Amino acid sequence: MSKKIAIIGAGISGLSAAAYAAKAGHQVEVFEKHSIPGGRARQYITENGYSFAMGPSWYWMPDIIDQFFQDFGHKANDFYELVSLDPQFEMVYGDENISIPKNYIDLIALFEKIESGAGKKLDEFMKAAQFKYEVGMQDFVNKPCHSWFEFVSPKILKSAFKLNLLTNFRSYVNSYFSNPKLRTLMEFPVIFLGASPQKIPALYSLMNYGGYALGTWYPIGGFYQLILAMRKIAEDQGVKFHFNHPVDKIITKGNKVRSILVHRKEFEFDAIIASSDYHHSESLLDENQKNYSQEYWKSRTFAPSCLIYYLGFKKRIPNLLHHTLFFENDLDDHISSIYATKTWPDKPLFYACCPSKTDKNVAPNGHENVFLLMPLATGIADDESIREKYFIEMISRIERYTATTNLIEAIDYKRSYCVSDFVKDYNAYQGNAYGLANTLNQTAVLKPSIRSKKLDNLFYTGQLTVPGPGVPPSIISGRIVANELNKMDANKVQLFTKSTII
Ligand SMILES: Cc1cc2nc3c(=O)[nH]c(=O)nc-3n(C[C@H](O)[C@H](O)[C@H](O)COP(=O)(O)OP(=O)(O)OC[C@H]3O[C@@H](n4cnc5c(N)ncnc54)[C@H](O)[C@@H]3O)c2cc1C
Repeated sequence: MSKKIAIIGAGISGLSAAAYAAKAGHQVEVFEKHSIPGGRARQYITENGYSFAMGPSWYWMPDIIDQFFQDFGHKANDFYELVSLDPQFEMVYGDENISIPKNYIDLIALFEKIESGAGKKLDEFMKAAQFKYEVGMQDFVNKPCHSWFEFVSPKILKSAFKLNLLTNFRSYVNSYFSNPKLRTLMEFPVIFLGASPQKIPALYSLMNYGGYALGTWYPIGGFYQLILAMRKIAEDQGVKFHFNHPVDKIITKGNKVRSILVHRKEFEFDAIIASSDYHHSESLLDENQKNYSQEYWKSRTFAPSCLIYYLGFKKRIPNLLHHTLFFENDLDDHISSIYATKTWPDKPLFYACCPSKTDKNVAPNGHENVFLLMPLATGIADDESIREKYFIEMISRIERYTATTNLIEAIDYKRSYCVSDFVKDYNAYQGNAYGLANTLNQTAVLKPSIRSKKLDNLFYTGQLTVPGPGVPPSIISGRIVANELNKMDANKVQLFTKSTII
């Protein structure tokens, strides 16, 4: 039965939920506080011709993104050209750098060159990671996670041991490789998962497969092409967008939500999907209607926030690749500043993305578009002077690595973005950038629930609920929640390919 559905937020999960819910026959309206869709994956274009992707820059797990397109009779190439980066990225260690080739056979040869026997070990590691990826993506990630019983199936039980849920990522990597650089290289993807490698289950070596083996991709025109494509698909399904419409309150009647309040105007709906940050979404309710208390949120481990610089350079920067990871300092020291001491790091690691190396659309001719990102503890003070201190450090390390000088004089666009901006722009709890960490006790059923426990017709989606942070998981989260919505009716039909679970 067709229902009137409001979606709060037009980030990736909101766009996905909107498209799937509309495909199921509902009348869907999306209310977004910003003037454009995308949320953390927004884009902005400067007056002097730079086009910055504000958040995601690693297009990994292309098969998951493709699944979204296929569900609507499309493929990614209907909307944008995807190129496979070669090398995928470079890891800078100070004394030497390691470039990750696109070709898997070359990657094996590279590992072998660095450590005798590591080529074969990499292949074993990747075969195990592929198994986890396939089981994870087919059997785990699509579950609404109301109960552990969803995971009771002969197939899952049979594979449970091989998923390495109870082994930590660090000891798992160490059991394969001895060379410290290879170990760091293999640990790097878990930084996206928001906890130290000692706290992340080895299950997430599936990320190494989703990245290193499936490749690092780039949509020509910038990451925002994905958002434009998702918006187009949603609109083709009949979704109506209301931009510059921040939701101020969710109004309820009995155990149901009735309407949302925007600019003092009430809009009535049969059900609401909140894709804004979970803690904020609950702040739109009365205290007794929330799933979780303040104590609950305080007790959670959040994935990092970050310091970002969006930079335009009026000259080319030689020797800089599309993706470069500046890992000259110790990974554990930086991680400890994020999770243990919750301070600005003494010896930071950071990441530089230079999409103008691949794409002439993102910077004026002869210029360079550069995005710098340094992971940071959530909730810390971030005034301009402290940001600038780290900016100088990052630029000088880029100068050293690229053997250039006077980069600062070549800057013709500069904008910083940090913890307080995440709070202001996305109502992000403590200014988190990547949601909740994927630690074992914050996995699956232990993540914030996709359904309200108090209000029958209120649902949550996005990187703070299942399956977790990242572009592909946020797309999946939208699909899961749209399926949950369909279960509101007596004659529930499981409409979408991957979610036919319980
Ligand atoms: C800097 C950065 C880099 C990243 N890099 C990568 C990467 O390389 N690869 C990758 O896979 N993932 C990456 N991620 C993670 C990925 O971007 C996120 O997991 C994903 O975009 C989250 O989508 P979402 O829909 O859950 O949340 P959001 O994108 O935050 O969407 C929520 C939306 O709700 C809106 N909203 C909030 N409050 C209200 C309100 N009251 N009323 C109306 N609207 C409201 C917000 O404006 C926003 O548009 C990165 C994230 C960041 C921040």
